[in-house]
Amino acid sequence: MRLSKIASEIAESPTFALNEEARMLRERGEAVINLGIGEPKNKTPLSAVIASAAKLTSGEVKYVAPDGVPSLKRAVVRYTEENYDCLVMPENVLITNGAKQSLFNIFYSILNPGDEVVVLAPYWVSYNQMIKMCQGVPVVVAPEDGTFTPHFEEIERAVTSSTRAIIVNSPNNPSGAIYPPELIEKIVVMCESKGIFMVCDDIYHKLTFDHHKAIPAPHFTKKDVENSHIIIVNGVAKLYGMTGFRVGWVIAPRELVRVMTNVTVQITSGVSPVSQAAAEGALTGVQSMVEALRLQIQNNRNVLLQEMKSFNGVHLIEPQGTFYALPNIGALSNDSVAVSRFLLKNAKVVVVPGKEFGMEGHIRISFAGAANEVSEGLNRIRWALDPTSPNEIYIGDKRTVRDWM
Ligand code: PMP
Repeated sequence: MRLSKIASEIAESPTFALNEEARMLRERGEAVINLGIGEPKNKTPLSAVIASAAKLTSGEVKYVAPDGVPSLKRAVVRYTEENYDCLVMPENVLITNGAKQSLFNIFYSILNPGDEVVVLAPYWVSYNQMIKMCQGVPVVVAPEDGTFTPHFEEIERAVTSSTRAIIVNSPNNPSGAIYPPELIEKIVVMCESKGIFMVCDDIYHKLTFDHHKAIPAPHFTKKDVENSHIIIVNGVAKLYGMTGFRVGWVIAPRELVRVMTNVTVQITSGVSPVSQAAAEGALTGVQSMVEALRLQIQNNRNVLLQEMKSFNGVHLIEPQGTFYALPNIGALSNDSVAVSRFLLKNAKVVVVPGKEFGMEGHIRISFAGAANEVSEGLNRIRWALDPTSPNEIYIGDKRTVRDWM
């Protein structure tokens, strides 16, 4: 079959593929634990359920403004004021089908063929694919010191006259790292002076642990949204655990929002008003659940740290936010795909190979689920990876014999 070159070169999503594999194993009766997907287990906030149910029962579920329902846009304006200390207008807001579509729309609207986007490793799997879909070129900067935080000089070296944007995701998926404020400030200043967009993927910005905080980029500029070159991406997926509603947003200069709205209207006509009502309900309802979710995830992170203390040959940099950890398994194997397959086959635990995030020799472990699953999953991983552990265990009621890589 003759297919488009761009489309056929797009890689499948490893997390969704692994999820599917786990589902099939589960259907065959295997007691699979999924530490692959980044999805909290909480119920949808009641205020979101009530608001979306009201929209449904009104029977008025029709096309809406492609840039977003005005009342949701106003809620996002308020959210931005409260959380970013940043004044924006509804014209600076575009509501999208998840943060994913926000990012795609940004790249599609700012890139010409061959334009470069600096991507900081470890990076979220979709950035490079999206940039390529928009005929751009991802330029990856990987920290040379074995940490998950690139040095500013490394970033500066990657910037050329073709650079249109840099994407910054802190707290970071997959490492849980939060970039230091000095680094964020230097990137803000560089982007302003060179006229490059700084795209802040802030989808995890409230999921931070202990004393760690992610200082938002607008804090480091006196310029307003029209002039600062900062574009903010956020959404309800991780903040409220509302992954299935598919609501995200972009805060950007109004000219860019205008262009992105035209793009949106030609492909999706906007986001379902039922989902938008849910997002508005979440943003305007009781906010205590955000903190409750953060505390639950922080507790899971503590469970993970405790379990991993007894891992041999695995080095972990403590996650400061998100719900991911990216342990270094290089002492055991440098092939993270093989290790992930080995863990699924033997321990019946899904993890994601670090290779997918530009960090070979690591595996990503999600601790978004229930604490007992995190604990059981890590116990099984420890069993599978430690050559001194007994060669067989029971997983559920099935005897499992380890089959080395
Ligand atoms: N950015 C990052 C860093 C993510 O991890 C995710 C979801 N895994 C997204 C964006 C997409 O979020 P949404 O579900 O709102 O599309």
